[in-house]
Parts: sequence; C-alpha cells; structure tokens
Amino acid sequence: MTNVSAATTEHDVLVVGAGLAGLQCARTLQREGVNVAVWDAGDQVGGRIRTDLIDGFRLDRGFQVLNPAYPAIKEHIDINALGMQMFGSGVGVRSEDRFAMLVDPIREPALASELLRSGLLAPVDVIALARWAGPALAPPSWVKNARDAQRGESMDAVGLTGPLREVMEAFLAGVVLEDEGTTSMNFMRLLLRMFVFGSPGLPRLGMQALPQQIADELGDAVTTGVQVASIEQGRRRAIVHTADGRTASARLVVVATGATAAQSLVGVKAPEMKGVVADWFTMDEAPDMPPMLVVDGRGPKAGPVKNAAVISAAAPTYAPPGRHLVQASSLMHGGRSAATEQVLDHTGELFGVDTRGWQLIHRHEVPEALPSQPAPLRTRQAMRVSRSVIVAGDHMDTASIQGAMVSGERAAQGYLQHISHT
Ligand SMILES: Cc1cc2nc3c(=O)[nH]c(=O)nc-3n(C[C@H](O)[C@H](O)[C@H](O)COP(=O)(O)OP(=O)(O)OC[C@H]3O[C@@H](n4cnc5c(N)ncnc54)[C@H](O)[C@@H]3O)c2cc1C
Repeated sequence: MTNVSAATTEHDVLVVGAGLAGLQCARTLQREGVNVAVWDAGDQVGGRIRTDLIDGFRLDRGFQVLNPAYPAIKEHIDINALGMQMFGSGVGVRSEDRFAMLVDPIREPALASELLRSGLLAPVDVIALARWAGPALAPPSWVKNARDAQRGESMDAVGLTGPLREVMEAFLAGVVLEDEGTTSMNFMRLLLRMFVFGSPGLPRLGMQALPQQIADELGDAVTTGVQVASIEQGRRRAIVHTADGRTASARLVVVATGATAAQSLVGVKAPEMKGVVADWFTMDEAPDMPPMLVVDGRGPKAGPVKNAAVISAAAPTYAPPGRHLVQASSLMHGGRSAATEQVLDHTGELFGVDTRGWQLIHRHEVPEALPSQPAPLRTRQAMRVSRSVIVAGDHMDTASIQGAMVSGERAAQGYLQHISHT
C-alpha cells in the first residue's frame, strides 16, 4: 500500500473501490501489464468484507460465509491458502418441541438418522420442496433465464407449506436479508445450488483474508484512505477529484464503490439495500451445538434472529484459546434493528441454553449489506456509463461474493478487449 503524494497522477485505468469487484478488476488488468491504480476511502481493503480483531476474537463486520463452490472463487482464489474452516453440511432447527438437524445425508452420514427423526419431513412437503428447489441443480445459465417469480409466490405455487417451509424461509431470510418473500426465486435457486455443491466456511484469519489475498498481489497499486469526491467524464479520459484535493487522470475509471456511492458519483440508479445486524457473544461454557447455522422453524414471530451459530465450534481461530464465540444475525428494517437483549433471549431459545452470563463482545450494524435482488433476476447488467467510465460491483450482477467478482472480471475483460482493438 502507498500514500499518494503527487498532486496529479496518470493511469491507464483507475479503479475506485477496493472491495472484491474493484480488486478483481485491477488484478486481472495488472497481470496483463496495464498501468492500474486502486483508490479506496476505507482504512483497509475489503469493502463489505472486513474483519475486526477485538479482545483476541475475529469478528467479521456482519456475519458472512465463503462458499468455495462459487465458480469465481474456484477460478480466481487460492482457497487452500485461506485455511478454510468449514461448517457442517446442514442446519439446526428449533421447533416447538425439539431441536432437529436437517443434514445432507451424503456429506454427514453419521447424522443421517437425525434427518428421519427431525419430524420436519412430511412426504407432501418434501415433494413440494423438491419441485421448488429441484431446478437449482440445472446449469446456472438455465436457472438465470428461466421464468422468474417472487420467492414467496413461487413457494405458494408448488404448495410448499408447513414446518419445512418455515425452515426454508428462515434459512433464506438470513442469506438474502429479507423475510417478506420478495427476492427472485431464480436468485434463490442459484444460491441453493452453491449450498448443494459446497459447504460454506470461514478463512483462518477471517473473511477479510479473501480480498486481502488479491490486494497482496496488487501491492503498491492499492492506496487506502482516498475518498473520491467527483469524476469528470471526458471522451478520451476521465479526471478524478478526491476529497483532499488531489486529481488523477485515466483512460478508464472503474467505479467499484458499491451501489449508493456509484449513484452519487456517476448517477447509476442504486437498488434498495438490505441491512443486517450481527451480535457477537462470548460465554464461559460452549453451548452444546453442532458446527452449523441454527434457524427458527417456528416462523418469524418467534424472535428477531434469522440465524445463529457457535462460530468457535466451526472456526476455532475466531476465538482465543479456551474461549467461545457465538454470532446471532437479525435483519434491519428501515434502518431499525432489534435490541441486543431480544437477540440474546431468542438465541438462548434457539440453542436451548441459559444465556445469563453471556457477554456481548461487539455489535456490527450494516445498513447497506446487500443489494435487493427482485424478480425477474437481472444479472450481467450494462456497466458502461460513458466512454471513460464503467461501473462494477455486486449490484451489477448477483448480490454476492460471486457477483462482485464476476462484475470486476467483466470490467477488466471489457477494457482488455477494447485496447486490443485500438
Ligand atoms: C454482513 C454481510 C454479509 C454478507 N454475506 C454474504 C455471504 O454469506 N455470501 C455472499 O456471497 N455474499 C455475502 N455478502 C455480500 C458480499 O460481501 C458483497 O456482495 C461483496 O463484498 C461486494 O463487493 P463490492 O466490491 O461490490 O462492493 P464493496 O465491498 O462495498 O466495495 C466498495 C468499496 O468502495 C469504497 N468506496 C466507496 N465510495 C468510495 C469513494 N467515494 N471513494 C473511494 N472509495 C470508495 C468502499 O470503501 C469499499 O471498500 C455479505 C455482505 C455483508 C455486508
């Protein structure tokens, strides 16, 4: 990392934003010998994927997971170098009268009998779920182009009801950060496909290790602490002005700032953003829970928590030796969030444990965590704003790590194609 000292700098490409999209774009260009610089307003790289080290705990800024099955991760990331710590293949479910586990019987054969005992698998619901989720196994290009509908309506249409629907809704709400059923069914199917083909996990050093891996290769091309204030779009070059009075000129500026900042910098309409809160707790005794996400199968009225997990059971490096770490995620609605006390009570119910004595380590509130992804699903949106500016980011593709990386890669490939013809 460097600090920009010169008043004006010249580049072939200037990338604004060192989240996954911007970093992926810049690395591809740099590997092809393009003179590229990345400027980011934050104090470190990563954008929405940051990890705080607090009292020896690794706390991601909002609980999130890395699924190694994402095609962009397979293609562009050295996953072994991240030292992944995997969650179990399934979810724990709190229902009225028991705690059950819905596991993948192939990847968790020792727990397969739990599936039968769960009481969640009424044949009629299983058939409806298969009708709803089955297309997730089709090739992604087919899923993206299939007729789309809102998630809630599409479950109604196949007659998916009962406890299995409650479980699916609770699980998916924690993934797409909305619980009203308005997200695209096809987007849900693309995500489900990833959970079928891969188990999610957490890198040894925290989620920020993912963007950091790309940034390390970029070296001095990345500068943090630089807030871009405005962009003048010319026919041949764009001029970038920073909040502290510096300017840069580039043949192409890639605006990889996230949706809201892209709207204010270059006027691209931002989608509605979904918010989430993560409460991180520690306790003296580890809750006796499998290393899985736990959801509430009793419906959204049961409490605010969409998923909770004993993180230190799945990812021991997230807690200091001998300590335990639990996360509980709840949604933000219109900027409002549930109080930590409510979250704590609900997590105790989910785990079936007494949470008196648990301590809150930290609360992360992320009002702009994910762009909404309504039906019909639109991936690979037009990214060019003018001859000298394009936009990249998860809001231009799918609202995910995969989508951010794909859009960054597309921005880079577009530029490489352009210069190969000039
Ligand atoms: C809590 C949470 C949980 C999530 N869970 C998952 C999950 O489990 N699986 C999954 O696939 N995805 C998940 N996501 C989504 C995923 O993290 C994002 O899709 C992805 O990181 C977006 O990357 P990006 O590069 O598009 O944008 P960002 O990461 O937002 O990067 C934008 C960058 O631009 C910089 N910037 C903004 N304005 C300026 C400016 N004016 N000047 C200079 N720099 C600027 C910002 O500082 C930032 O670094 C989650 C996100 C959050 C927040």
